[in-house]
Amino acid sequence: MSYDVEALRAQFPILAETGRNGQPLVYLDNAASTQRPLAVLDAVDHYERHAHANVHRAVHVLSQRATEAYEAGRAQLAAFLNAPSPDEVVFTRGTTEALNLVAYAWGGMLAPGDEVVLTALEHHSNIVPWQLVAARTGAVIRVVPIHDDGSLDLDAYDRLLGPRTKIVSVGHTSNALGTVNPVAEMAARAHAVGAILVVDGAQGAPHAPIDVQALGADFFALSGHKMYGPTGIGALWGRMELLERMPPWQGGGDMIETVRFEGSTWAAPPARFEAGTPYIAGAVGIGAAARFLMDVGRDAVSAHEARLLARATAGLQSLDGVRILGTAPHKAAVLSFVVDGLHPTDVGTFLDEDGIAVRTGHHCAQPLMERLGVEATARASFGLYNTEAEVDRFLTSMAKIVRLFR
Ligand code: PLP
Repeated sequence: MSYDVEALRAQFPILAETGRNGQPLVYLDNAASTQRPLAVLDAVDHYERHAHANVHRAVHVLSQRATEAYEAGRAQLAAFLNAPSPDEVVFTRGTTEALNLVAYAWGGMLAPGDEVVLTALEHHSNIVPWQLVAARTGAVIRVVPIHDDGSLDLDAYDRLLGPRTKIVSVGHTSNALGTVNPVAEMAARAHAVGAILVVDGAQGAPHAPIDVQALGADFFALSGHKMYGPTGIGALWGRMELLERMPPWQGGGDMIETVRFEGSTWAAPPARFEAGTPYIAGAVGIGAAARFLMDVGRDAVSAHEARLLARATAGLQSLDGVRILGTAPHKAAVLSFVVDGLHPTDVGTFLDEDGIAVRTGHHCAQPLMERLGVEATARASFGLYNTEAEVDRFLTSMAKIVRLFR
């Protein structure tokens, strides 16, 4: 069956909004946050109207409905990730919280001199939590450098790995450059030295099928709002064997087995890591988003976005004074660029005048910007509902900007 982008667009009411100056909106800021389809809006609405109560603790009918809806969201995410069990999926506020959880709780078991390997591509949320844990434990952070095209230097990675390496934490896909990292290969090499591999999957989950078992990952973090679900909800998937060995990171209701003033014992995962009343509607929404993406077909989404990326890349390359940052052979639909003589913020503002939404800035990747010798870039990022006609409008606008303002 061919990919029916218009039928998909019809499922996203917000795409009917107009952009600046009454122009049809072209939304190319998907790496920051995607829009939500009716499947998600309706699932959340239905939950709020018909099923809300607190989860897990009551015998009454609404609490049972809420618990079923919450746990169904977990099961959908487990299917989405091909996780062996829903019990391996811990709900969090998003990728940031998921990475903080694993850094705090697993990373808290590091000893002085143990090494955590990150890469030069990482988002701040896969850097700062490890710096916090390094300061607490005396662990040391090592960084895999990149080649000029934005791909990882895997020879350098090999040289960094050793008996002191305990954790490798890597982004599946770079939000700033679109580079898709060879996570499965990196996991195998990390395991060979006895380290675990954590994946920041924020940008992987929306663009490609994810199979945590095939990746050989030990932990995988994701955000609902980057995969067509709500904000404020995400998850940390972890291998059960590791989750069982990991201490809690927040205390409170729901995460305990018994509580005495002399001391408490912990519930089994995932409850151990979900203290307090969770974001139940968010779990419903992220579950619906996972189901939606599985129904559309993630291979089809990948292929569609690859066509958009190729068209946009070729178009930008033909414009004088425009430089694309990130030209790795394996990329997702993220296109970062700079224009000679123009600040990225101005490029974003001019595009917005034409109804085109892109992001400008350091993309929460300041070390990467420094490595690339820029302060900021403009970034167009594509989603499953973008069209070739939208890419062409973006390119026409860019051609005008280059002609008039450079
Ligand atoms: N990691 C990557 C690669 C991202 O792109 C982002 C968000 O931009 C995050 C982590 C943080 O995600 P959140 O803000 O949803 O926690």
